Amino acid sequence: MTTTNAPEPTTAVPTAVQTFDSFGLDARILRALSDQGYTSPTPIQAQAIPVVLLGKDVMGAAQTGTGKTAGFALPIIQRLLPMANASASPARHPVRALMLTPTRELADQVYDNVARYAKHTDLRSTVVFGGVDMNPQTDALRRGVEILVATPGRLLDHVQQKAVNLSQVQMLVLDEADRMLDMGFLPDLQRIINLLPAQRQTLLFSATFSPEIKRLASSYLKQPVTIEVARSNSTNENVRQAVYQVEDGHKQAAVVHLLKQRAEQGLSRQCIVFVNSKIGCSRLARHLEREGINAAAIHGDKTQTERMQTLDGFKSGTIDALVATDVAARGLDIPDMPCVINFDVPYSAEDYVHRIGRTGRAGASGDALSIYVPGNDERLLSDIEKLIKRSIPRAKLEGFDPTGERSRQVDSERRRERGEMRRARGSTDSEDRPRRQDHGANRQTFRASDDPFFSRPYEPSPASVAQAKAADEVAAALTRGRQAPKRPVAALLGGVPRKS
Ligand code: AMP
Repeated sequence: MTTTNAPEPTTAVPTAVQTFDSFGLDARILRALSDQGYTSPTPIQAQAIPVVLLGKDVMGAAQTGTGKTAGFALPIIQRLLPMANASASPARHPVRALMLTPTRELADQVYDNVARYAKHTDLRSTVVFGGVDMNPQTDALRRGVEILVATPGRLLDHVQQKAVNLSQVQMLVLDEADRMLDMGFLPDLQRIINLLPAQRQTLLFSATFSPEIKRLASSYLKQPVTIEVARSNSTNENVRQAVYQVEDGHKQAAVVHLLKQRAEQGLSRQCIVFVNSKIGCSRLARHLEREGINAAAIHGDKTQTERMQTLDGFKSGTIDALVATDVAARGLDIPDMPCVINFDVPYSAEDYVHRIGRTGRAGASGDALSIYVPGNDERLLSDIEKLIKRSIPRAKLEGFDPTGERSRQVDSERRRERGEMRRARGSTDSEDRPRRQDHGANRQTFRASDDPFFSRPYEPSPASVAQAKAADEVAAALTRGRQAPKRPVAALLGGVPRKS
């Protein structure tokens, strides 16, 4: 990437706009917003919409959940309206706005929003992402679309197959750009951007303005206006955190107890349950189902279709407990989550903050409940408490009686599995937990009160991802052979992340 010295970005002055009509948006857009039930712009929208309408480049610090999608989509739709037409000819519908996102789920969410906001206009939109059949996407692209939402890899596949031409793109959005870089998309981004006209408007949204993001911006943005939403601590304040001490082997029963207790108390049944490994994730979801709780697992081994179906089921309320690994939960827009449960204490304190950031959004109240096993999780908990600069109250699981027959069965099952895990590792580590790494160096740099880290979209740390992968690989090896792998143990446990 060639780095140029971009002029210093200017900062958008927050406007006093309280209604969408004051932006001068077209009546068709306003109608769509009223269909959505939006009455007033969110802070990021109040800042971004006027700037994007002026055609300026933007560097926006905002995360999923702030309304940033409408912040860029509404003015883009407005600017494209003069080109909207009802012609059937694909040539009359070239791609004019390209929105790139790191994940399939986020691409789908952005597309869903764009389609809603543009539904009363003749502008066409579609989404392309990997993991699903290319043919329907190719058909949609060949029919012509003005607004294309895409993940970088799949977009390049379509470019290669000549299903799409990007030479008329006037507006480019890099959504969650930091995560695109984290996920190694920089070369793909460079290839894509090289296909676009130099004369265009570029909007970059990122949770942080790291040196890499600044380099990306200085290469591809022209005199960008910086937009930052003042971060609020309300999320943390509104979230009731508690830690429940549970004997090793009773964790599944404890989650069942917590969920049933919430239902009995008339609280919402909906909950995300975080688990550190894919195998643990599936196992817990199965257990919850057996206990009569509508549950589904979402993790990296699920197909795209399965993940979308699960997410849809969760959003529509047919699934109550979404059991997720950190990786699978990236960027999911699940509004008003009343409860997050940590079945496993996360390996890194940063992941804890991001997990519980799923609840208590936008002023709502929420519960963040963690289960911890004495002797196993104290170090992790104390890391978390240091990071968030507060102690998390230890609570008693009222009425929890793990000594029933079922618990004994679960116990013996877990003991057997743990024994196998230990033999596989040749170590005395308990639980299906790989060795953790020290996050102390990072931790020093975070402050609970005002660091943008706390308002970033939920995103597992690379160390956690590597550790969870190692746990899955060991467990998968056991499941396959029911015996310890002979040589790879050291490599698996040494945290050497395999490319996937
Ligand atoms: P986003 O951060 O773009 O993913 O948006 C988060 C959620 O807020 C989505 O479910 C949007 O539909 C919703 N939303 C966006 N803008 C508004 C608004 N002005 N009023 C109410 N809800 C909104």
